[in-house]
Amino acid sequence: MKTLLPTSTAGSLPKPLWLAEPEKLWSPWKLEADELVAGKQDALRLALMDQDRAGIDIVSDGETTRQHFVTTFIEHLSGVDFENRRTVKIRDRYDASVPVVNGAIARQKPVFVDDARFLRQQTDKPIKWALPGPMTMVDTLYDAHYKSREKLAWEFAKVLNQEAKELEAAGVDIIQFDEPAFNVFFDEVNDWGIAALEKAVEGLKCETAVHICYGYGIKANTDWKKTLGSEWRQYEEIFPKLQQSSIDLISLECHNSRVPMDLIELIRGKKVMVGAIDVANHQIETPEEVAETLRRALKFVDADKLYPSTNCGMAPLPNSVARGKLEALCKGAAILREELSRGTF
Ligand SMILES: [Zn+2]
Repeated sequence: MKTLLPTSTAGSLPKPLWLAEPEKLWSPWKLEADELVAGKQDALRLALMDQDRAGIDIVSDGETTRQHFVTTFIEHLSGVDFENRRTVKIRDRYDASVPVVNGAIARQKPVFVDDARFLRQQTDKPIKWALPGPMTMVDTLYDAHYKSREKLAWEFAKVLNQEAKELEAAGVDIIQFDEPAFNVFFDEVNDWGIAALEKAVEGLKCETAVHICYGYGIKANTDWKKTLGSEWRQYEEIFPKLQQSSIDLISLECHNSRVPMDLIELIRGKKVMVGAIDVANHQIETPEEVAETLRRALKFVDADKLYPSTNCGMAPLPNSVARGKLEALCKGAAILREELSRGTF
């Protein structure tokens, strides 16, 4: 029987101390060459073990083999110059030194397929693999070649589709595209962002997801959140079109956020990964807090379409905090599962 309320995470987990400096994005690797390859595989196995121990139903690699959720994918493409970087404002929020698109984008070889195959060998559970979404990739680069965000997104969608098809063949059950940029550039999302995403999933038979959040718990993001007012209605701008799209699951930030829960009604019919864990603080939720967020979401999503999850990735958190949060998520989901089975919800 299919598990009701299957738990998963939005994506990343903290890397072990010996692999990269903890609590830091873009943290450089501490190992090299063959040792790095082996170290990444060990980190992936640890990430899987932590998820198993907590009771996560749909597991991932914890993104332990990548330095960053967007740039690591881009590093493997031709047409991008990583030497001569430019500074741009990411999501209109913070400056970052980014690579430059200086030629036609192409994927010369698979990027994560070996890692996905390795994960597949380690577990019989359903696995979810995250890729950056086309719009978020565009927003993490300086484009000196196509000179059109839409055109560049389309090129990225094509290479993402190649990668996604090989991930599917490697046994990935759910392919997730991370599109935090969807929460910022609404007009573009509706003009071409969702179309580019659909290009990226074209022809896939496995399930597909899009993760749309308010970002990692880093200062630039928490400062930005303070400017968004008492109600965060960003999702409202893009949900109607997403509801019409071919994407199966939509991953959202809900717990501790000011997103009005009733906005989920706008994507009725989709499976919803409800973020019931805050990744922007070190306080571990109680199972009851998790259950309460899920209960509120259940008013707007059918129980068989509710996927308890985290608000975003947990890479910047201390390891022990992330483990505690995984456990809280699973215990919270269990409370609700029990209520549903007793009919007391
Ligand atoms: Zn996120």
